[in-house]
Amino acid sequence: MSTLIRSVEVLVSSPSRNFVTLRITTEDGVVGLGDATLNGRELAVASYLRDHLAPLLVGRDAHLIEDTWQFLYRGAYWRRGPVTMTAIAAVDVALWDIKAKLANMPLYQLLGGASRTGALVYAHAAGGDIPSLFDSVRQRLDEGYRAIRIQVAVPGVAKSYGVQAGAARGAKYAYEPAKRAGLSVEEGWDSAAYLRHLPGVFEAVRNEFGPDLLLLHDVHHRLTPIQAARLGKSLEPYDLFWMEDVTPAENQEALRLVREHTTTPIAIGEVFNSVWDYRDLVREQLIDYVRASVVHAGGITGLRRIFDYAAMYQIKSGSHGPTDISPVGLAAALHLDLAIHNFGIQEHMAHQPLAHEVFQTSYTFDGGLMHPGDEPGLGVAYDDEAAARFDYEPAYLPIARLADGTIHDW
Ligand SMILES: [Mg+2]
Repeated sequence: MSTLIRSVEVLVSSPSRNFVTLRITTEDGVVGLGDATLNGRELAVASYLRDHLAPLLVGRDAHLIEDTWQFLYRGAYWRRGPVTMTAIAAVDVALWDIKAKLANMPLYQLLGGASRTGALVYAHAAGGDIPSLFDSVRQRLDEGYRAIRIQVAVPGVAKSYGVQAGAARGAKYAYEPAKRAGLSVEEGWDSAAYLRHLPGVFEAVRNEFGPDLLLLHDVHHRLTPIQAARLGKSLEPYDLFWMEDVTPAENQEALRLVREHTTTPIAIGEVFNSVWDYRDLVREQLIDYVRASVVHAGGITGLRRIFDYAAMYQIKSGSHGPTDISPVGLAAALHLDLAIHNFGIQEHMAHQPLAHEVFQTSYTFDGGLMHPGDEPGLGVAYDDEAAARFDYEPAYLPIARLADGTIHDW
């Protein structure tokens, strides 16, 4: 059977939000899908794939996953970076999809088989105030989630991160940070007000929902090291599963100071794109969870390298899974989650129904766990006719400014 690559197509569609999907087809008509969505910079990856990688891939053997990964990584000369690594990830995941289909197995079987019955996932809850936050948490509990990320508006700060602006009390959480507009939306930020407000919020949530609920929180890279240390210390009584991205991602040494001051577990890495970004964090055991995504960290091949390295130091996975990770990317993450030994948790921010008109999935959710399903490959199909109804629309992530107008980390 020939496994030579016949075509490489870049598919851009916007069913409720923008997605870039790579479709690789072999000479025998076996199709593999990869997610190439880089939120707010989508067309850069589309061009990288269409203009630079597709011509290199046609005629190659689709079975050569590791060789192709190294060919694209080393062959570019310009290594790493989100655009390059997202493009490589899309190719890698599409080739794994093809290989698993040819083997007539769900992908997790090729990755070593299931290490667990399902992947624990966490959902998001948020509110403009405590009562609406409680409503949001109750919705998630009713849906069956056992782990919930808590975000709340900070008094005096306009449009806080993670909180749906203007949402009516009891409305279903549908926060989508990337807004379809020619310019970024501006949000506010005040670290001092945030540090004063947050411990009381977690105290209230613990008192209301008891000790068993797994609670997470995302700081979104906004604090200095000493502020992050103080936050972790102040949240210790409320037993968080983790605090996420407490400081800007570029400086790995910042977490050494945070670690010295607090036992609140630390997760980081949604903007990381290679194992090198984790080198010191893992070796010095400065973190507890690696939060890179299969889409932005070089695919199954790249992320598995990160997970295996982390496993040497008892550090667990916590894959990034917002709405800009397409159903293809989420399916790939779930196969890896099921197979690896050092699985921690998987983020799940459910896609809008329109997205599922384009992407037909076979993953399931039950009792707080997700399972990728047992279809051969990833278990995701792409509907071209549905996709054609949703033209690309420029969309940007917000930016954050302090009260005096200074740009801050969003
Ligand atoms: Mg995050």
